[in-house]
Amino acid sequence: MGASKKQRGKQRKAAKSKAAERDGILAVSQSPTKLISLIQRGDNAATAMYCSGDYTLSRVQNETVVTSVLGFLQRCESETFDSVIADIGGDLETPLTWIDSMLCAIRSNSSFVSIIAKNIGHLMRCMCDDMNKLFFQSNQHWKESFKPFVQLIWFIIYETFETDILDCSAEKEEVIKTLLHHENENFLASIVQWSSFWNRSNRPDIELGFDSRKMIYNCGRLSTHLLVKNVVDLRKTIATMPIISREYDPSCTVSYVAGIVDYMMYNECQKEDFETLHHLVVDTDCVDQSVIEGMVNLGFKLSADLERSILLMNISREMIVQKEQPSDTRVAFAIRAGLVEMCLTFVGRFGRQTTNENDIQTALLCHIEGIFKSIYDVALHKKTWKAIRHQRQVIEARSNHLDFITHDNCKKLVLMVKSILDMNGAYCCHCNKSLGRKERFQCGECNRMTYCSRSCQRSDWLNGHSHACCKTYNDDNCGQFQGRAVPPTIPEDERTASKLGELEINNNMIQLKLFLDHSATILEQAKSLNIPLYDCIVKFELRYCPLKVTTHHYTELYDDESVGKKQYEASRSEKNITCMFSSHNFIGGMTNHLGKSAVLGMQRLFPCEWLTDKK
Ligand SMILES: [Zn+2]
Ligand SMILES: [Zn+2]
Repeated sequence: MGASKKQRGKQRKAAKSKAAERDGILAVSQSPTKLISLIQRGDNAATAMYCSGDYTLSRVQNETVVTSVLGFLQRCESETFDSVIADIGGDLETPLTWIDSMLCAIRSNSSFVSIIAKNIGHLMRCMCDDMNKLFFQSNQHWKESFKPFVQLIWFIIYETFETDILDCSAEKEEVIKTLLHHENENFLASIVQWSSFWNRSNRPDIELGFDSRKMIYNCGRLSTHLLVKNVVDLRKTIATMPIISREYDPSCTVSYVAGIVDYMMYNECQKEDFETLHHLVVDTDCVDQSVIEGMVNLGFKLSADLERSILLMNISREMIVQKEQPSDTRVAFAIRAGLVEMCLTFVGRFGRQTTNENDIQTALLCHIEGIFKSIYDVALHKKTWKAIRHQRQVIEARSNHLDFITHDNCKKLVLMVKSILDMNGAYCCHCNKSLGRKERFQCGECNRMTYCSRSCQRSDWLNGHSHACCKTYNDDNCGQFQGRAVPPTIPEDERTASKLGELEINNNMIQLKLFLDHSATILEQAKSLNIPLYDCIVKFELRYCPLKVTTHHYTELYDDESVGKKQYEASRSEKNITCMFSSHNFIGGMTNHLGKSAVLGMQRLFPCEWLTDKK
C-alpha cells in the first residue's frame, strides 16, 4: 500500500513537472502562431493546451485550428492513427484530443458548429457504426473517443437550436440536414440508442463505464428532445425507431416511444422527456398497447409528483383519442391497464380538500374529466365494454371508497365513473334481470336482443319483438318499430357491420334498465306536459354524461308537415310508450360526411304500465 502510494506521488510529481515544462515552453513562446503550428504538426502538449481552453486565440486563429483538426479527422476511415501521426510528425497520444479540440472550438465560438457539422461525415460514419466500432481503424480509439463524440453531437444540436448563433431557421435546418446527410437514418438510430438503451442487457458488446453511459444517455435524450421539438419531419421516424439497432438485433420490436416510457418508469424523468413524449404520442400518434400500459403505470408511480403528473395526464388524455375521436381499442387497453383507478387516486387525494384548488389541481382534474368523457363515449363499444366489465369490481370498489368526498369537481368525476359503470350493464331485455357471463340467450334471428331465459325470449317475441326482428326502420312502421333507426342501413364491410351489431346488443341490454331507473322523472315530465303516456316520446341522450332524459309530445318530433306523422299515429299502440336512445358511434368508417362521429339511434317501446308497476 505504502509503496504504491509513494509511486503514485512520484507519478503525480512527474506529471506536474511535465505540465510545468509544457506551460513553460508555451508561455515562453507566447505566440499563438507557434501554438497553431504545433497543433498542425500533431503536437500532444500544444493540442492539450488548446483543449484546456486557457489559451485565447482570435476567431481567425481558432478557425485555422478547426480546419486543420477537421482535416486530420477526415482521415479516420481510411488510415490508422499511427500512420497519420507518422505523416505529420507529431507525438499526439490519442485522436480523442482532436474531438476535444472541436468541443473547445465551439466553446470559444459557437458559430463553428456549421463548419464542423459540414466536415465530420467521416467521423460520424466511424462512430455511428456501432457494429464495427472502428475509429482510425482501432477499437480502442473508438471506445475512448465515444463520450466526447456524443458530447460533440450534443453541442452541435444544442448550439443550433437553443442559441441565436445561426441567424435564421433556414441555417439551422441546414446544419441538421448536413448531419443527417452524413449518416441518414443511422445517425437517428444512434441518437435513439444513446437515449438510454445501451444498457448491459440490450448491448453487452458495448463496453462503456457507468459514468460514460450516464453522460451518453443524457446527451442522447436531450439531443432527441431538441430534434423532436424542432424538426417536425423527423418525429414519426424517431418515434417508431427500434431501441436496439437493426444491425445488432433485427427482431427488436420495441419502439422509441415505448422504450422511453419504460425508461421513465425506472429512472428519474425530466420535463424534457415529457415534452418529447407529447410530440411523439400526440402529434405523430405513435401509440400502441405497450405505450398505453406504460403510461398508466407511470401515472401510478408519479402520482405524488403533481407537476409531472399533469404532463403525464395531458398525454394520457390524448393517447386514447385518435383523429379527434376516442378509440375503442386504445380506451380498452388503458382501462385494462388501470387508467380509471389511476385517475381516481388523484380524485381521492383532492376530494377532501376544503381550501380552494390551485391551478395545477384544476388542470389535472380537467384532464381527468377529459379521460372519463372519452371512456364514457365509447363505453358501449365492443372492446371498451368488455374491458370495463373485466375491471368492474376494482373500479367499483375504488369509487365506493370516494363517497365521502366533498370537493365539487371531484364529486362530479366520481359521478362520471358511476355513469360509465351504468352504461356497462347486462340485463335481460324483457325482465331486466341482471345477467351473468354465461346466462345469456340471444334472439336467434336478429342476434340483437339478449334474454335471461327462453321464456323471456318467447314473451318478448309476443310482446312486440316479432314486429321488429330483422326489420328496417321506415315511415310505415315507425309507430311499432323497435331497433336501430340510425344509421338506416348496415355497412357493407363485414367487420364494421359486426362492430355495429355489438354496439346495438350492448345498447339493448341497458334500455329497459334506464327506462325503469328514470320512471319517476318520465312520469313527472309526462304529467307536466299533461298528455297520456302513449302520446309521449322519451328521449334518452346517452351522448351526455350523465345521460339526459327528456319527455316530449310526439307532435314535437312528427309535426304536421312531417312524412311520418300519420304513419306514426296509425301504427302505434296506445298500450306502449315510445323511447328513443341516442349514443355515439365511433366505429371506423361510419363517420358522417362532416367528419363528425355518427350516431346510433335506437327506438324501443315499453308497455306504459311498466312505468308504474315496478319490474
Ligand atoms: Zn328475463
Ligand atoms: Zn330478433
